[in-house]
Amino acid sequence: MSAFERIRRPEYTGRNRCWPCTITNAALLAVLGAVAAVVWLPLAAAVLAGGGAGIWLRGYLVPYTPRVAPPLFDRLPISSPKSGEATGRGSIAGAGDSAAPDGEAVLGALLDAGVVTDDGEALALDPSFRDAWTDEQRTLRDADGEALAAAIESTTPEGVTARAQGTNGALILVEGSDGGVTLARPIAVAEAAAARALETTAPELSAAVRAGAVRPLRGFLESCPVCETEVVETTPRSCCGTTNPRYEDDRILACPSCDRRLYTFPA
Ligand SMILES: [Zn+2]
Repeated sequence: MSAFERIRRPEYTGRNRCWPCTITNAALLAVLGAVAAVVWLPLAAAVLAGGGAGIWLRGYLVPYTPRVAPPLFDRLPISSPKSGEATGRGSIAGAGDSAAPDGEAVLGALLDAGVVTDDGEALALDPSFRDAWTDEQRTLRDADGEALAAAIESTTPEGVTARAQGTNGALILVEGSDGGVTLARPIAVAEAAAARALETTAPELSAAVRAGAVRPLRGFLESCPVCETEVVETTPRSCCGTTNPRYEDDRILACPSCDRRLYTFPA
């Protein structure tokens, strides 16, 4: 790993850049630069260059900005610039295969296979599938980024590649013919584990159905795939500091301990 990669924080930059954090830090840096300019002009140049590089590479400079800035911006009567799709909405499902079966076909197949049960009132997970899924999550949660990426590749159609990014594989970049998606670790673990559990408990399901099932199955998570804290149903506004105001009213499942979105309910 190069020094550049060690400093870089992909979870806060690129597609995942949080604009409230970036703007807050740029404003603080400008003030700092102005103060430095009063002292000695070359110092101001150094402060601005160093600080600017920090914000560009790490997403923010001031510790805890991701916790503070988004709620702060929520209270301002302005809308912050839109960033890309919020991490947590992506899925392995459909990567590399645009002809994936639709949600209803996937659910029908899961009901037929007994992975999901319907008592007429609510859908539930079959307990033996949940046990298998939890076992796979426990195996994968301790895997390093490369092993997790390899597990994803082994459960996805040919042509799909997975690469670990960030500290200890905090993010997994999954790329197929339809483009790429960046997955936060809890989601990568949940989906790869679901794909593996489906392989063993419902081998009669087609690969396409298994691939399409991993996203909706996350809606049945009862505990966090990486820390086992009980999940809560909430909105990104009150948890997981949303990076995009467009999505702050999503109904989500989140891990309050990891501060991560685990599932977004369909609107
Ligand atoms: Zn957690």
